[in-house]
Amino acid sequence: MKYISTRGEINPVSFREAVMMGLARDGGLLIPEEIPDLTGCLAAWKKLSFVELAFEVMRLYSDLPEKDLKAIVQRSYSKFDVKEITPVVPVNGIYILELFHGPTLAFKDVALQFLGNLFEYILKESKQELNILGATSGDTGSAAIQGVRGRDSMRIFVMHPHNRVSKIQEKQMTSVLDGNVYNIAIEGTFDDCQNIMKTIFCDLEFKDKFSLGSINSINWARVLAQIVYYFYAGFRVMEKTGAEKISFSVPTGNFGDIFAGYVACRMGLPVNKLVLATNENDILSRFFNTGEYSIGKVVETLSPSMDIQVASNFERFLYYRLGENAVLLKEMMLSFSKSGKLNLQKDRDGFIDRTIIAGSSDTETTLSTIRNFHHEYSYILDPHTAVGVHVAMRFKKEGEPMICLATAHPAKFSEAIKKATGKDIVHHPSIDALEGMPTKCEPLPASVAAVRDYIETRIDAN
Ligand SMILES: *Cc1c(COP(=O)(O)O)cnc(C)c1O
Repeated sequence: MKYISTRGEINPVSFREAVMMGLARDGGLLIPEEIPDLTGCLAAWKKLSFVELAFEVMRLYSDLPEKDLKAIVQRSYSKFDVKEITPVVPVNGIYILELFHGPTLAFKDVALQFLGNLFEYILKESKQELNILGATSGDTGSAAIQGVRGRDSMRIFVMHPHNRVSKIQEKQMTSVLDGNVYNIAIEGTFDDCQNIMKTIFCDLEFKDKFSLGSINSINWARVLAQIVYYFYAGFRVMEKTGAEKISFSVPTGNFGDIFAGYVACRMGLPVNKLVLATNENDILSRFFNTGEYSIGKVVETLSPSMDIQVASNFERFLYYRLGENAVLLKEMMLSFSKSGKLNLQKDRDGFIDRTIIAGSSDTETTLSTIRNFHHEYSYILDPHTAVGVHVAMRFKKEGEPMICLATAHPAKFSEAIKKATGKDIVHHPSIDALEGMPTKCEPLPASVAAVRDYIETRIDAN
């Protein structure tokens, strides 16, 4: 399988090149030349374990020798704390797909454990080095660090805004003491971190000299790993209910997770609806309801990993929605970058998309959803998952199974749970163990020069 750019201006590249490249050189996002139709394979896939299924899905898109890919997949899911990897739990007539059983208790582990192994394999083969630079407002940083820690040919530099991520999130990052992990606490906001990162990546000379790479959610390998659990959960629920189609509800920020579901659907998974759920940062749900995609101001919510306005993976969806027309897509994206706005026409029946429907949940409804699920069904939802569950309930129809993606373990957001239930009731041994652990972190001013210097010195030193 070769990969092309949504903006149509690069020559097709291999899977390995696509993984290392992240963003396409023409500013677009990489996508497979075609999405395979697997309708004929579904019956054979039904009985596979998560790891077997991951291998079947990934081999279609990868150019690695099969035995190497198999070993990578096996290793990537060896640190999850349940045998099923992503179990499906029935609660109150819906199905909760628990994606939080990896090392950092967030769904990002499903992709970043795989990406870490994949990077290591490709680097070893090409005898290269990679220095990852990232900015995080919380969850991504720790999942990326866990994916990369202790690996030979890689270092990771993660900036977070000093005292502006939760104590648990900070500890999850800074308590990793491996020599190849560098935590930087920027004296500024998340935007400062992101601006510093963008400026450094734009300096191509510096970027090449120090082999800088990124691990953010536009990397195709992350989407690929996330496709797997849509099939896995879909099979479990179809088997259980006898239904021929299932729906999914996905709490959304950067449109990465739900885009994986969209690809699964195009591959032939019988999906009824994909429900896109946002918090108050609702640019995406407004778009699917009105056709207008326009930037608002980011507001802070209880579900910080979804406090995003411009969704980095949205361009991939738009490419397919525009009938794979790269010329038109490029025009729209360029005009969007100038005006902060783009518009699509609804179809005859008033839909922006036939599969994706969207809604949002505010702080009050998110808290009451957590409270209600705890009280009525003794199940504790984290605030991101609660956003998805609330919107799912609004769209759910009798007799149509609904799978809600649970993207984080509630113990990661125990403050919000306390706020909702009035009680300190969620714990997880790996979170409790953070208390009192030694930490390693460098505070730096919000300055490009300071971060550049820091990176340069650390790389030159070994
Ligand atoms: C990252 C994240 C999301 C949003 O995922 P996207 O792929 O950005 O849409 C939702 N919930 C949690 C807990 C996350 O960490």
